[in-house]
Amino acid sequence: MLVFKEKKSLHTFLSNQKSKNSSIGFVPTMGALHSGHLSLVRESLKQNEITVVSIFVNPTQFDNAEDLEKYPNALENDLLLLEEVGCNVAFTPNANEMYGDSTVAEVFDFGGIENEMEGAFRKGHFNGVGTIVSKLFDIVKPTSAYFGEKDFQQLQIIKTLVEIKDYNINIVGCPILREENGLAMSSRNERLSENERLEASLIHNTLLKIKEVYNQNTIEELVTFVENTFKNNPHFELEYFSIADEKTLKTMSKKDNKKTPRAFIAVVVNSVRLIDNLSLS
Ligand code: AMP
Repeated sequence: MLVFKEKKSLHTFLSNQKSKNSSIGFVPTMGALHSGHLSLVRESLKQNEITVVSIFVNPTQFDNAEDLEKYPNALENDLLLLEEVGCNVAFTPNANEMYGDSTVAEVFDFGGIENEMEGAFRKGHFNGVGTIVSKLFDIVKPTSAYFGEKDFQQLQIIKTLVEIKDYNINIVGCPILREENGLAMSSRNERLSENERLEASLIHNTLLKIKEVYNQNTIEELVTFVENTFKNNPHFELEYFSIADEKTLKTMSKKDNKKTPRAFIAVVVNSVRLIDNLSLS
């Protein structure tokens, strides 16, 4: 596996590959890789001649300094994991390489989806995501790019980014990988104690319960059920629970056959913020 720290040398290598008509698959990550990330890499390896994975903890998408500071860093191990799955190229730039002297985000209009859920609770988050992903797309110019449904709203943002910037890139959404107890895999899970990690199965189990009883209840009743579930648990703080249309990401206050409902949740466990979602259709 080749490892590049500089965009110029990566660009030169990829231009050479593209002149041979190789398809380039791209998986952007923030590192501390787990099986969820690796499932995206495997999908890209299946579909492309060359797979590039970037590892960069992007400062402009963090609204909380402590979250950025505590974000796990495991570069050496990440490179071993990528080598093991057969990844061709890792790109591991530093902040100066990506932002130069000005670590600021571009401001985007994603048509409103940036203001829902994650966007409402993490101010400026999707401007940061849009900024780094477009910088990376400009360097890698991939044929296809792979994103997890774990961050479902981010996936919709990226699809919109591709339209806004007129990129000729195929965006591939990949299913959520979970721990044995159902907890969605996340680099942030490393910050949980063993007990918290076990207890955090409540998040996925609650979504499963909602799916099971969806047809027999109003949306209001379902929301109340989730709020009460978390009110009764002293270790978990519910940030939001929303049943929203997959396309607009707007909260649905009542059921509507023309919409595709999905349940979205964010929970804080001992200052670690966890998100998950599940299709209800
Ligand atoms: P991150 O390193 O958290 O920025 O994630 C990089 C990519 O991996 C994003 O497209 C995520 O949606 C995806 N990802 C993270 N966790 C999972 C998971 N549990 N299952 C599938 N994809 C995931």
